[in-house]
Amino acid sequence: MENDIAAGEGIVFNIQRFSIQDGPGIRTTVFLKGCPLRCLWCSNPESMRLSPEIITRDIKCIGSGKCAEICPERAITFVEKTRIIDWERCNYCMKCAQVCPSKAIEAAGEHMTIAEVIDTVGRDCNYYRRTNGGMTLSGGEPLLQWQFALGLLREAKRQGFHTALDTAGYAEWEILDEVLNYTDLVLYDVKHMDSEKHQEATGVSNERILDNLQKILAKSKAKVWIRRPVIPSFNDSEEDLEKLCKFVLTLDRPVEKISLLPYHKYGELKYAAKGRVYPYQDVALISDEQMGRFKKLVESYGLKVDIGR
Ligand code: SF4
Ligand code: SF4
Repeated sequence: MENDIAAGEGIVFNIQRFSIQDGPGIRTTVFLKGCPLRCLWCSNPESMRLSPEIITRDIKCIGSGKCAEICPERAITFVEKTRIIDWERCNYCMKCAQVCPSKAIEAAGEHMTIAEVIDTVGRDCNYYRRTNGGMTLSGGEPLLQWQFALGLLREAKRQGFHTALDTAGYAEWEILDEVLNYTDLVLYDVKHMDSEKHQEATGVSNERILDNLQKILAKSKAKVWIRRPVIPSFNDSEEDLEKLCKFVLTLDRPVEKISLLPYHKYGELKYAAKGRVYPYQDVALISDEQMGRFKKLVESYGLKVDIGR
């Protein structure tokens, strides 16, 4: 973790209440900042960097010029009332976000304490009770801020909430092992069974990820949902899905289900907001028919499967 984060606090980039996709029942999903992966299709590019950063919304800019006045790096200029940010110069000091009167520049990521997060999570405890819901930690990769994640999960359990961890599994086993003591359900991403292809598209190989998955099923009691984002020209082949099913059947105990998550473009505008080009902008979506075929294929292995979002 970067050393400007005090003990007992972490960096959160979103807290989403009334979530129904990230585990059973009604949930509050806490998104922690920072990810060791660099998936080309990532729909949360603002989650990758561990520290807070700025995101821009050009359509809201009223041309006040306050951001350019305060920027210590002279990274902001105006050309005929259009604000231009030189991202190479920006040092993420966040001063422009603090003075922008129209929220055309905002901060992504804020320091929060465990108590502050749990206070927000606890507001919906009646819904959790009625629906078997609870708190889900997501990201980025929540295990990158593992001490903060551990503190949140421990406190959530102390308050009687169901807990889920949404992870890409790229962490040291010792960390995962400790966090699992306070985790009821793991939502575990397996993006590709071929390590070289995994490395090409995410920046990391998959050996540690598959090894950790085996250990979770062998050594912990947490329930597991496998998540498979289905990405065009990357893993949208029956061959790789079959390899995943065969691997899942070798695990020490059954997973609850495999969720197939069709590729979407929700993140496209966020790349523009960070002055970046979305690498998947020309890629077509996966059809419902194809997702249906993949679902049947997983079912043919006797595994429970659904199509998520
Ligand atoms: S965050 Fe970047 S653009 Fe904004 S004031 Fe700081 S250096 Fe300038
Ligand atoms: S693991 Fe998730 S958050 Fe991290 S880069 Fe990949 S898609 Fe984005």
